[in-house]
Amino acid sequence: MENTASNTILLVDDETVNLMFLTNILSPEYTVYIAQDGQSAIRKAEEVSPDIILLDIIMPGMNGYEVLSVLRDKHETRDIPVIFITGLNSSKDEEKGLESDAVDYISKPFSVGIVKLRVRNQIRIINQMREINRLSVTDLLTGISNRRGFEHQMRREWGRAIREKLPISILMIDVDHFKVFNDTYGHQQGDAVLQEVAIAISRCVTRTTDFAARWGGEEFIVMLPNTEIKGALIVAENIRENIEQIPVYLPDGTTAQVTVSIGVGTTTPEPGDMNEKLISEADKALYTAKESGRNNVCH
Ligand SMILES: [Mg+2]
Repeated sequence: MENTASNTILLVDDETVNLMFLTNILSPEYTVYIAQDGQSAIRKAEEVSPDIILLDIIMPGMNGYEVLSVLRDKHETRDIPVIFITGLNSSKDEEKGLESDAVDYISKPFSVGIVKLRVRNQIRIINQMREINRLSVTDLLTGISNRRGFEHQMRREWGRAIREKLPISILMIDVDHFKVFNDTYGHQQGDAVLQEVAIAISRCVTRTTDFAARWGGEEFIVMLPNTEIKGALIVAENIRENIEQIPVYLPDGTTAQVTVSIGVGTTTPEPGDMNEKLISEADKALYTAKESGRNNVCH
């Protein structure tokens, strides 16, 4: 069975006995939070951002429908799936519940089996969606982010740099003579080199906001938020040195050396500036690094 202990559920019901019942059947499989009224449910949802909310409809103060509509208005809670749990059990009530954007509907009195299965179905969907999202931004060969993941992250950090008037640096990294290497030793060997290079880059990119990705082919890119040219050059040089030291073992028992050229660009963006301009500056610097002999860093 899949491990769901990291999946989180928020249980909302005004009656303690219901909360206890649901906690008992769900806490062995999931991490469970509880709330006993609408207001604290909304607060808790914002705080822990649960994977799913089981929401009672009839509660004093805010009812379940009202809670759901507030959750849908808030950026942090907008996408959290909600399963209604309720004593209302006519098909009309069920229709109203599903119409109001709940993903499912569980009637009281609870059946242990049905609660477990309905929750399990939704959690499974959520976990599959997450995996699909993760794969869509992952480069399958190297396991680091792909270009799409990078562009997403870049937009976020670019916006932040503009708001906070901070510098941001880009390193464009290209494996030297990669085509020759591929032609000489084969694509499998070439793939292994790209994997090693990705590992070496990741090892040098250590701050949580720094971000490395495969840009395409034998090109990699690194974003360093809140980093001036001086700091960016240190990281770039560190990457270059680390890659130079990777021993590449060849099928014939000998080893080869792999090197990279790195172009560095830095800017403190202003409103209206496009991040593509910074990337193309780093690209130009990379071209200069190639022209001036490879295995070096230029800006
Ligand atoms: Mg109730």
